Amino acid sequence: MKNHPISICLIALALFFLPLAAQQNDSKFDLLIRGGQIVDGTGNPWFFGDVAVKGDRIVEIGRNISGSATKILDARGLVVAPGFIDMHSHSDRVLFEDGHAQSKIRQGVTTEVVGEGHSAAPYKGKLSPKPVSVKGKTEHLATLGEYLDAVERAGISVNIASYVGLNNLWEGVMGHSFAQPTQEDLEKMKVLMAEAMEDGAFGLSSQLMSPPGLLATTDQVVELCRVVRDYGGIYSSHIRNEGLGVFESVKQAIEIGERGGVPVDIIHIKIADQQYWGRMDEVIALIEKARQRGVNVQANVYPYTRGYNNLASIIPPWAHEGGWDTMISRLKNKEDRKRMKKDILNGVPGWYNHYTAVGGDWSRMMIGDNNEYKGMTMDVVLQKRTEGKNPKPDLMDEMFDLIIEKNNSVGTVYAHHTERDMTLVMSQPWCSIGSDGSAFATEGVLRRGNPHPRNFGTFPRVLGRYVREQNLISLEEAVRKMTSLNAAKIGLRDRGLLKEGMFADIAVFDPDEVIDKSGFTDPFHYSKGITYVVVNGELVLDHEQHTGATPGRALRFNR
Ligand SMILES: [Zn+2]
Repeated sequence: MKNHPISICLIALALFFLPLAAQQNDSKFDLLIRGGQIVDGTGNPWFFGDVAVKGDRIVEIGRNISGSATKILDARGLVVAPGFIDMHSHSDRVLFEDGHAQSKIRQGVTTEVVGEGHSAAPYKGKLSPKPVSVKGKTEHLATLGEYLDAVERAGISVNIASYVGLNNLWEGVMGHSFAQPTQEDLEKMKVLMAEAMEDGAFGLSSQLMSPPGLLATTDQVVELCRVVRDYGGIYSSHIRNEGLGVFESVKQAIEIGERGGVPVDIIHIKIADQQYWGRMDEVIALIEKARQRGVNVQANVYPYTRGYNNLASIIPPWAHEGGWDTMISRLKNKEDRKRMKKDILNGVPGWYNHYTAVGGDWSRMMIGDNNEYKGMTMDVVLQKRTEGKNPKPDLMDEMFDLIIEKNNSVGTVYAHHTERDMTLVMSQPWCSIGSDGSAFATEGVLRRGNPHPRNFGTFPRVLGRYVREQNLISLEEAVRKMTSLNAAKIGLRDRGLLKEGMFADIAVFDPDEVIDKSGFTDPFHYSKGITYVVVNGELVLDHEQHTGATPGRALRFNR
């Protein structure tokens, strides 16, 4: 530094305001995380060390890093890991309502990968642009680029990466018609696909279980994937059928990857029908065989074995036609009831039947809704309702009556897959963690409904239950499944590892305390044990409290 009057003046001023001013001016680092157990995301064994951040990047990692820092976090006794990448999130649009992503940040999540059947954009062609409120001003988002710009401008605490949903492409060209697209229609979809890739999409996502995704043939999805291939993106798939069609559906996802020339990530992989429980090893074998011949198929999973749906999802599809009022009158009609019972017990081809999926076991269905039965399993509910009645009513009839009585709104938790299948697939090296949940909060606009606990607890549950309590996977492996594995899948090269030069997305947690607190009947509880979260170099969670900071960015593929 040259000695001239102004700098002498500044030095005098700085000395006067010591220590604050001196620290801010001279600090080598903006943030220094000291003395933690570093799990760097590679899967390598942990080591003790410090992590130094300058601006939005990690600039140094090592033992006893010297140099001052504006802020120092004491991480002794804590694990320092890359911020978690939620491989399957539904936060797309809720972040416009509240960008703090509370339930995610408090799990250590710093990046959310969004998009399934639908993505937040594009809404073009036969779809009109979706209105959203960005900082109090209504905007209409037509393209994925516009969505990414808007969500970042809205102010978000997490980073967002997005796929393009097949349904957006399909409906953009076909509208809400169930007709098959012509080749010309398909070409139009490919143009939309390419535009979205140019806008920064990470690939194509689809949900082939219900329309319009259900209408798409393997050949059509392959054609769209070839566009994705040309950009280097991936295909993310909620497969056609997770119940009795699970083997065929996994094969279809593999075929699409193989013929389309793209990597495939199967979303929330599971076997959701009692008849096939215990056969996850066969699903794994299909994936392994494909991998051995060079098809890059992987999967993600959430660490729960239950799904959430209305009790009325037990009623066969034909009875839903015409809406609620019509269904009620059918439920009251003796003949219709008879037919429903028959279909529920025997199934209807192509219909995912929640009743047979749980093996017709009422104890595997639990009321999650806010009524007098909340938290009770259906065997108990039906027992209570039929107690003392003579003759004892048929249990299926009693359930129909309950649906009528509760106005069709009986949120039910279905234990439709098993712990053994779930943990077996979770242990596979290519299986990563995705919540299938979105950002909720215990206060404000995002406290609503009765959400699945995965929205609050996915990542801490893996670390607490499956790493600490059950030793199913090592800490290093679990962190890899939440960080670099997901980054590698979508081609995110500058996040997901603690390494010099990477973006400073960091999660610091207490390995002895970390655990989920959200339950199926009492979901609004944040997880415990996540101490600090840093996003792009800024502290978003400090001593388990959200700082209100919104340093999150919209990530664009290949940029
Ligand atoms: Zn899904």
